[in-house]
Amino acid sequence: MRKNCARMLALVLVWLVAFSARAAQTTVSGDSIKSYIRVLASDDFMGRGTGTEGCRLAEEYVAAKFRQWGLKPAGEKGTYFQPYTVQFFRLNAEPVLEAAGRRFVYEEDFEVLRFSGSGDVRAEVVWVGQGLVDTSSKRDDYRGVDVRGKVVLVAREMPREGGSPMMDQPSDSVRAAAAKAHGAVGMLIFTPPSESRPSRLRGRLSPFDYDPSFVAATVDPRVATYILKQAGKTEQEINQMFRSGRGQSFATGVEVHLRVDATFDPKRATRNVLAMIPGSDPKLKKEYVVLGGHLDHLGTDFRGTTYNGADDNASGIATVMEVARVMMANRIRPKRTVIFAGWSGEEMGLLGSSHYAAHPIWPLEQTVVYLNLDMVGRGNGKVRISGKYYGPKVWELMEQALGDSLKKDAEPQRGGPGGSDHTPFLVRGVPAFFLLTSGDHPDYHQPTDDWDKIQPEVCQVAGEMTYRSAVALAQAPGALLEADREAEYVFRHAALAFLQPTWLTTGLESMSQHHIDVALLVPRVKPQAGLSEKLEVLVRAADSLREADRESEEFDLATNPAELRMATYRGTLELLLGVRGQDFDWDEAILRNLARLDYRVLVLSDSDGVWTDGRELTERGKQAVRIANETGLLLLLENPSPAVALSLLSATSKPAAVAGLEGESLREEVLNAVAKNRGLLLVPYCPREKATDVAQRLNALKPRLGSDHLGLYPHFRDPKLVSLARSIASELLKLGWKREEVEAVLGSNLAQILREVSVEREMTIQFRF
Ligand SMILES: [Zn+2]
Repeated sequence: MRKNCARMLALVLVWLVAFSARAAQTTVSGDSIKSYIRVLASDDFMGRGTGTEGCRLAEEYVAAKFRQWGLKPAGEKGTYFQPYTVQFFRLNAEPVLEAAGRRFVYEEDFEVLRFSGSGDVRAEVVWVGQGLVDTSSKRDDYRGVDVRGKVVLVAREMPREGGSPMMDQPSDSVRAAAAKAHGAVGMLIFTPPSESRPSRLRGRLSPFDYDPSFVAATVDPRVATYILKQAGKTEQEINQMFRSGRGQSFATGVEVHLRVDATFDPKRATRNVLAMIPGSDPKLKKEYVVLGGHLDHLGTDFRGTTYNGADDNASGIATVMEVARVMMANRIRPKRTVIFAGWSGEEMGLLGSSHYAAHPIWPLEQTVVYLNLDMVGRGNGKVRISGKYYGPKVWELMEQALGDSLKKDAEPQRGGPGGSDHTPFLVRGVPAFFLLTSGDHPDYHQPTDDWDKIQPEVCQVAGEMTYRSAVALAQAPGALLEADREAEYVFRHAALAFLQPTWLTTGLESMSQHHIDVALLVPRVKPQAGLSEKLEVLVRAADSLREADRESEEFDLATNPAELRMATYRGTLELLLGVRGQDFDWDEAILRNLARLDYRVLVLSDSDGVWTDGRELTERGKQAVRIANETGLLLLLENPSPAVALSLLSATSKPAAVAGLEGESLREEVLNAVAKNRGLLLVPYCPREKATDVAQRLNALKPRLGSDHLGLYPHFRDPKLVSLARSIASELLKLGWKREEVEAVLGSNLAQILREVSVEREMTIQFRF
C-alpha cells in the first residue's frame, strides 16, 4: 500500500509550518522536542517501519527540518540522504497452525520464521529428528521416510549448560535446505527445553535461500509433544527423542494446516538522514563529532495495529534535531565538523548505522566521538550515559562539559556494544556513548508508546547534556584521536583470561586494576598436611570466594561458563577456581566432589610420580582424567613434555587445555593431537618478548588449529604482561585477524571450552496445554 507522493509532501509542509515559530529560541526546549515527537509518532507516519511509506515520511520530515534550520546536507551527492537497501519481510495476515483438530495461538505456540515463504499447506507431519544430512559422517535423518509434499518436524540440538541454544549447531536454514531437497513443503522446528535455557520461539532462515513456496515456523516444544502424542508416542519416548534427535524418523499420520501470507523484498529502499554544521578550524574541520538516533520503529502489524514508537525512538531523533536547531540558532561555529544523523533500519538489527559505519561518508578514523540517543523521552529525569570504559578521555571532557548542574542527573555506565546504534561505531574503535533516560519504559515496543506520554522535562535534560557535550567536543583544542583505537576496543571488549594459576591469597585488586577479566585461582595447601586438613582448605577457599562474590561488585566467582562471557559486560573480575592434584593427594572421593565445591579446573603440573611417571599418564592419572571428564572439570596441563601431552590428549574424552609448549616441543604429532582433541593450545608469553614475535607464533599456528583452539598463557604472574597482551592483540589485527578471532584467543575460547567440558543437566519434559 503506497500513499501518493503529493499527499506525503503536503503533510511534511503542514508539519513544518505548524512548529516553525519556535526556531528563534536559543536554549534546548523540552516542549520543542515533544512537538517533533508528536509529528513523528502521529498515526500519519504509520509507525515508521523501515522500508514503508511511514519511514520514508519520517526521513523527509527530519531532512526538511534540517534544511529549514540551515544545516548543510551531509549525505550522498550533496543531499541529506544516504540510500541503502534492506531485506524487507512482513506478514500480511495472521498465520494459522492447526494439528489434529487443535488450533494453536500465534506468538504463544508458534511463530513464522523470518524469511519464510508463503502458502496454505495441509499435509502430514513427518518426524525427522534433527533433520540433518551429512555425507561425510554418513548421517541421514531422512533415511527411510518419504517427505515429498509433507511437513517435517525438526528438533534443534539440546542447548548445553550455560550456552546459547543457537551456538554451535547448524542453522535453521541448513535444516530447511535439507527438507526442501527431500521435497518437503514446510517445516516446523523447535528447541528442546533444558534446565538452563527456556525454549524460545524466534528464528529465521537465510534471506539468500528464500523460497517463495516453502513455509516454515518455530513451535513451542508443547506443540511438538502434542503432535507426537497424537502419533502414539509416550512422554518418556518423546523425552528420549528430543534428547537424541536422531535415528528414528517416521511419518506421524498427523495432519497439520499451516498458512503463511508474507511479503519479501530482497532490496527494499530506505535511507539514513545526514546533515552537518561544517567545522571552522582549518585543521580540525576534518574531524567529526557525530550525533544520532534511529528514526524508524516497528510500523504496523498484520492485525492493523500501529506501533507509533514515541519514546522509541521519536524521542531520540527529536532530541538530536533540537540540538541541531539550537546550535544553528546560537550561530555556533564549531572547530570540528558536527554531523547529525537519523538512522533507519535500527529495529531490523541496526541496519542504518551499520551501513553508515561500513560505508562512512565522513571517515570513521577522523570521527572523534559518536553520541547515540535512544529512548530519552520518559523516566525519572536521570540520564544513563554508557561508554566511559571504552572512551575514558572523551568521557572526561564530557563530564567537564556537563558541569555540576547536569552531572547530578548523569548516570555514567561502563558501556559496551549491543542494544542500539552506537554499536557499529564502537566496534570500529570510535568512542561511542549511548544516552538513555533512566527509569521504566513501560510501553517499550507496545502499541501504547504514544506521544502524549512523553515528558518534556526528561527530553530537555537529555538534550542539554547532548548539546553541551557536542559543543565541548567540537570545540576542544588539542588531539582527541588516539592511536590504534580498534585494537584498544578489541582489547577492552575481550575477556582477558590470565590462566597462570595464582594463589588465592594474592593480588586480586591489582588484577582487576590491570584489566584482567578472568583469573585462575588455586588455594595454597601445605604439602605435609593431612588429607582432612587439605580438604578443609579447599572447602574454605571456595567459601571465601563465594563471600568475595557476595560482598564485592568487583569480583565474581565463575560457577557457570556463561558468566565468563558476561565478564566483559559487567566489568567484574571473574574468578575461576582450580586445584592441583597433589593438593588433595589425588584422593578419588575429593576429586569426584570438586565440581560440586565450585572448582572448575584441574591443573596437572609438576610431575609428582603419581599422575604421570614423566613419560606418560599412570593408571591413577588416567583415572583422574576420567573423573574430571565425568564431573565437568577442565584439564589444564602445564608445561608438559611432548610425551606426557600426547598421553593426556589420548586419555581425555573432552577437550583439554595444554599450556606452555613451545619451540621444539611443538612437534607435528602434538599439534595433530591438540587438533583432534579440539581443545586449547595456550601459547606462552613473557615480559622479555616482543608482541610481534608472539603474534607471529600464533599466526603460524592458526592454519593448523584455527583461532578457536588457541589461547595465551602468561609465563609469570605479572600483571604487566597485560600491556603485552594488548600489543599482541594489535599485532594480530595488523596480520589480518578478525576482531572476534583476536577476542577468542585473548579469552573467549576459554569460556567455550569450559562450556564443552561442563556436564549437561537435562530436563524432563512435561507439557500440558
Ligand atoms: Zn530504539
